[in-house]
Amino acid sequence: MIVDYKHELVGAFGDPIRENPTGIMQEAAFAAAGLQWRYELFEVTAAALPDAVKGVKALGLRGFNCTIPHKVAVIPLLDEVAPDAALIGAVNTVRRDGDRWIGENTDGKGFMRGLREVLDPKGARVVVLGAGGAARAITVELALAGASAITIVNRGSGRGQGLVDHLNAKVGAQAGFFPWLATVAVGADVDILVNATSIALYPDVDAMPDILLDGARSDLLVCDVIPNPPVTPLIRAAQARGMRTITGLPMLVYQGAIGFEMWTGVTAPVDAMKQALEVAFGV
Ligand code: NDP
Repeated sequence: MIVDYKHELVGAFGDPIRENPTGIMQEAAFAAAGLQWRYELFEVTAAALPDAVKGVKALGLRGFNCTIPHKVAVIPLLDEVAPDAALIGAVNTVRRDGDRWIGENTDGKGFMRGLREVLDPKGARVVVLGAGGAARAITVELALAGASAITIVNRGSGRGQGLVDHLNAKVGAQAGFFPWLATVAVGADVDILVNATSIALYPDVDAMPDILLDGARSDLLVCDVIPNPPVTPLIRAAQARGMRTITGLPMLVYQGAIGFEMWTGVTAPVDAMKQALEVAFGV
């Protein structure tokens, strides 16, 4: 059994599918792989997290996901944290290896698996919009993969500069910060643009990041982390210019596929997972 610690009640605000895409995807994967496993959601308060992890250990579960607010607080409760998850400073997936509990972060890895289907980021010059958890996971993995320059564009300078300092000091990146105070023009020296903000996440589906693509290269690769709905105004604007795009769906599918493989040791049925999400999101 896999456990997903949810702080919020799933479906409490109406549509349970929109609140629980990971559960739908993992249950579809277990069925497609012929595994008699279940993925259950549990609401766990911050105060109860240590007891909940003790319970997971006592029951001998195979692993679990954790969502906000547990991604950082879970770290001291584990036996080990994978090097990239330690650099990201957050754990979204925990797996059991014998009697050891190991923290992983599959968000950045999931993004990278989708990215590598289109290009190798080694040597790429990347602009990332946002400096939150998703941006942190993605930029750590991009830096580890050898991206030659990473520019963080963020409204809040504390978070933006903090991420840049971390990437340069701890991950060996060539990163810089650009404060997002007005429209940001994407230049011809950019290979990959990533929206890692929550702009255009359901229900705010018409929102567009305040950027200008006029000066960008026609072969710019535009990536969005928003999985729901996957075709955002940014993705549409890039496609209208003939640019290559990656929506938030591959990241979501692959972060789940990587977790599935960590837990089960079985190659993830990616097509079944993708199809389950597309049905859930109605795309
Ligand atoms: P955080 O709350 O940690 O960070 C949000 C970021 O978005 C901050 O940098 C914030 O800027 C910026 N932001 C929010 N609204 C605006 C706005 N109107 N204009 C400019 N910047 C804005 O969130 P996460 O990083 O955890 O998640 C971000 C998104 O990534 C979410 O929508 C989530 O659904 C998605 N995601 C997708 C995954 C996938 O598998 N596809 C996996 C993980 C996340 P500031 O610091 O200035 O407030």
